[in-house]
Amino acid sequence: MKSKMIIALDQGTTSSRAVLFDHQASIVDVVQEEFTQHFPKPGWVEHDATEIWDSQFTVLQKLVAKNALTPDDIAAVGITNQRETTVVWNKHTGEPIHHAIVWQDRRTASRCDEIKAAGWAEKIQQKTGLVIDAYFSASKVQWILDHVEGAREAAEQGDLLFGTVDSWVIWKLTEGRVHATDPSNAARTMLLNIDTGAWDQELLDLFNIPRSMLPEVRDSAGDFGYFEFQGEKVAIAGVAGDQQAALFGQTCFAKGMAKNTYGTGCFLLMNTGRERVDSESGLLSTIAWSLNGEITYALEGSVFIGGAAVQWLRDELEFIENASDSEALAKQANPESNVVVVPAFAGLGAPYWDMYARGAIFGLTRDSGKPEIAKATLQSLAYQIFDVLEAMQKDSGIKLSQLNVDGGAIANNFLAQFQADVLQTEVTRPKVLESTALGAAFLAGIAVGYWQMDELGKVRDVERAFKPQREKPEIDRLLKRWHKAVERSRDWLDINDELSEA
Ligand code: ADP
Repeated sequence: MKSKMIIALDQGTTSSRAVLFDHQASIVDVVQEEFTQHFPKPGWVEHDATEIWDSQFTVLQKLVAKNALTPDDIAAVGITNQRETTVVWNKHTGEPIHHAIVWQDRRTASRCDEIKAAGWAEKIQQKTGLVIDAYFSASKVQWILDHVEGAREAAEQGDLLFGTVDSWVIWKLTEGRVHATDPSNAARTMLLNIDTGAWDQELLDLFNIPRSMLPEVRDSAGDFGYFEFQGEKVAIAGVAGDQQAALFGQTCFAKGMAKNTYGTGCFLLMNTGRERVDSESGLLSTIAWSLNGEITYALEGSVFIGGAAVQWLRDELEFIENASDSEALAKQANPESNVVVVPAFAGLGAPYWDMYARGAIFGLTRDSGKPEIAKATLQSLAYQIFDVLEAMQKDSGIKLSQLNVDGGAIANNFLAQFQADVLQTEVTRPKVLESTALGAAFLAGIAVGYWQMDELGKVRDVERAFKPQREKPEIDRLLKRWHKAVERSRDWLDINDELSEA
């Protein structure tokens, strides 16, 4: 008999995946399926929640079939998901009443401005740890109730349910038996009080959302029901939003440990332990997970343009054919070159928060060419992470001892080494770069006793540790130049430009 394994369902923004892990936390198999992105208007992004579910269920079935799994082979299932994306469905028919409104969707920006203007910013930050923004679920739920015919009445009669994608997948998997979420997902709705871990009536009133629509908030590792498979029950035992799941998958269990994911954008999360840390630099306070009724908090900062800058090298500048070619090209650069790229293509996020900044290349000389610009582009990812981490260290008073990394772009050895140099801190890259799925698997595994929490640190296999190789004075010189470049890219647009661009 095969030894038991764990399945992680990873419901992402562009694809659904099912990942099979063994007891060594190695990936046995992955099945992935993309689904449709809908852009009904500029700034609007939707998914068909039924298609999300179909793709998620299909990859699960394919994984099971490919590996000839029986219920006996599966210790438990964990779920991780794109966060904030909002689904509202009818609990009798199981049909969504509108497309899911995706986290990127900006349609509720003006509603959020209204709430800001009414003076809610401080209170919302205090309760939820978040800044008021269309990104989070609350205003999206309100939009659906206000715009779909009959929705408000149905909601008030208790016929409708709301969920982030985790809740939707759980509800479908359990055939409507369980309507639940975990605190890492609930914390992103802007409806949860992150101190108490409970839904907040004042915020529900503000967004005019009936409480009966909300899922029950349960521990991230615990009982989320079961699904029936070959006539037997398989436990759904772990749930976390994608970034928090990655923090867990990177075994950042102790206060002060942090991970960064280098995807299209970058997401940096630091475990701040049992106490929430409020940021002075516009970082978010959020719930990392809840285990045995105890909440662990995190600080979160994101960089809008991470791997996307490498896509820019590839697709707009046409310097390279594949993203991975950026490494070899950067290595050809003249070491004396002082070129700095500021990829503020969509403004600058934390800690600058300058929506009027735009991208720029500085320090060009007659001999600057593709290699120098490619190198400076890769370096810009590391510099941006340095800035967010500095803010985090300042807010939390914690000095980072090691950064755990994952995501597509950190396969780039030049970037990983330069990141270690800039941070003057070790950067460790695990063998399993699928930290998100691994985190969901870990949560499910500890819930059913498949793993013990203290053995997980040993299970995380480091593929390569990058130690700082450059001296601090040299890095200080580089950072000074980066910050000078950032300053010069700021405040580039004026309000009229902004309006005409929009
Ligand atoms: P996402 O989950 O956001 O789609 P991934 O984690 O799959 O992102 O990473 C893809 C991103 O990483 C792309 O933006 C791509 O340009 C970048 N990328 C992939 N491989 C490399 C590489 N070897 N060097 C630099 N960037 C890379």
